[in-house]
Amino acid sequence: MEEAPKKVSNFIKDIVEDDLKTRKHTKIITRFPPEPNGYLHLGHAKSICLNFGLAKTYGGECNLRFDDTNPSKEDMEYIDSIQEDIKWLGFTPTRICYASDYYDQLYAWAEELIQKGLAYVCSLNTDEIRDYRGTLTAPGKNSPDRDRSIEENLDLFRRMKNGEFKDGEYTLRAKIDMASPNMNFRDPAIYRIKHESHPRTGDKWCIYPMYDFAHGESDAIEHITHSICTLEFEDHRPLYNWFVEHLSVPSKPRQIEFARLNLTYTVMSKRYLLSLVKDGTVSGWDDPRMPTICGIRRRGYPAKALRNFCELIGVSKADSMVDYSLLEHCVRDVLNKEAQRRMAVLDPIKLIIENYPEDKEEDIVCENNTEAEADAGTRTVKFTKELYIEREDFEENPPKKWFRMAIGQEVRLKHSYYVTCKEVVKDENGNITALICTYDPETKGGTSPDGRKVKGTIHWVSCKYAVNGTVNLYEHLFTKANPYDAEEGKTFKDYFNNNSLTVLKNVKLEENLLDAKPLDTFQFLRKGYYTLDKDSTKDNLIFNRTVSLKDSWEKEKK
Ligand code: ATP
Ligand code: MG
Repeated sequence: MEEAPKKVSNFIKDIVEDDLKTRKHTKIITRFPPEPNGYLHLGHAKSICLNFGLAKTYGGECNLRFDDTNPSKEDMEYIDSIQEDIKWLGFTPTRICYASDYYDQLYAWAEELIQKGLAYVCSLNTDEIRDYRGTLTAPGKNSPDRDRSIEENLDLFRRMKNGEFKDGEYTLRAKIDMASPNMNFRDPAIYRIKHESHPRTGDKWCIYPMYDFAHGESDAIEHITHSICTLEFEDHRPLYNWFVEHLSVPSKPRQIEFARLNLTYTVMSKRYLLSLVKDGTVSGWDDPRMPTICGIRRRGYPAKALRNFCELIGVSKADSMVDYSLLEHCVRDVLNKEAQRRMAVLDPIKLIIENYPEDKEEDIVCENNTEAEADAGTRTVKFTKELYIEREDFEENPPKKWFRMAIGQEVRLKHSYYVTCKEVVKDENGNITALICTYDPETKGGTSPDGRKVKGTIHWVSCKYAVNGTVNLYEHLFTKANPYDAEEGKTFKDYFNNNSLTVLKNVKLEENLLDAKPLDTFQFLRKGYYTLDKDSTKDNLIFNRTVSLKDSWEKEKK
């Protein structure tokens, strides 16, 4: 068993506990605010576990809020998938909200800023706005429109709303400080013109609020107490607070930033993931190699493993890269207790038991999972004269310490008998086509009455009863631990792992696997954990390798 990694702290829990202790809040309300422009990934899982987890732990509430303020990239398909993924992760939102539900209120607050002389309509185009903004070392310049009268601003803003102008012709900007050391304070845009249909509001609006304006104000409307976001918004916090302070909002939420999750050998930006889907590098958002929630679900990762993983990595303010193997550790940890055992031969070779009667069949009773917390019961598997074993479990010229099958070496067939290989059958090219062995009828159940010990135990399936199947073996998506860090002239795609998928088409499966349902996960003895794919049929069972086991032979060789 791998050693369990130590838990790290979660500084946001400390803040929440303090706020409850001092009665700053009697109930906490958090929210998970995805933009519906893609499928959720493992990074989002961290945010979901954090926000919903805090609400659960402290008896509070957590909303799912779709941050749907950019109609050009958003889609109902994403809205549905996000809800499904959150449910699968084991969480239920207190409310399902949409920033677009607040458009009327947000618009009214924009007019409030104009009335207070804190916002103006600006006619500079995108390039000019950038030039006027200055740099980190040089202050910006005031827009020539900065001193428009309140009346004129109101008139123009209403006409923006009424569709009198083209995209980009005007923007509404907050009037703050063009010389502020914080670039976000240099008269940030609040509203832009976008003649585009919105998935939910249709053609009602042709102006849309910017993220910084919409986000904090939506938090205030929902009485969010702790608005948790990732570190890149740290510099936006003063602006977040500025809006909350200058508007007649119903509550004053607090923004807290934490470090986003980065994992080795994968990428987690929606833009990058979308590009892999679009160019066909992967088969879709739910390709089992993808770090999306739907991808890892199809791969067979249990939701519980993900929750455990998020708890384990904790929450901090320092950006870091988490080793993918830690996630795999969490997956094995859950599956070891939960997955029933089956036998499957991935690369079959026939084993013929010379002295086993031709027509004899035995029902072998096998434990489903001795590691399970509750009794997982038993199943029966047919034992017959001809079996399949794993090609790699036989060596014609075995090295030292080889305990598996070799000529003259006795091994145990899992759950059944001791057998000794006598002879190898080869075709004209010298390839081994079958192995001939004898068995000891006294060793049924895997022990010998004379106390004879064997060191190797191998798995098998009956040739007569085996079910044919396909197995997809997966490796990391990328060959480089940090694919974002591409060498000059390369992109992350140059590090795509061409061996990330291997398809085995001649797999022989224990007959009980015919009863498996999509997303059922099993431990194939000695081979790892495998999950039935949704595209599986009774004639061709398709299993995805969820995660491998540790190979003890590989370790011994070292
Ligand atoms: P991406 O960068 O992948 O496009 P995003 O931040 O644009 O992600 P949103 O839909 O805006 O995605 O994010 C919803 C929530 O999930 C936000 O609060 C965001 O901070 C959080 N989140 C996104 N990526 C991660 C991550 N890698 N680790 C932790 N939280 C994340
Ligand atoms: Mg985003």
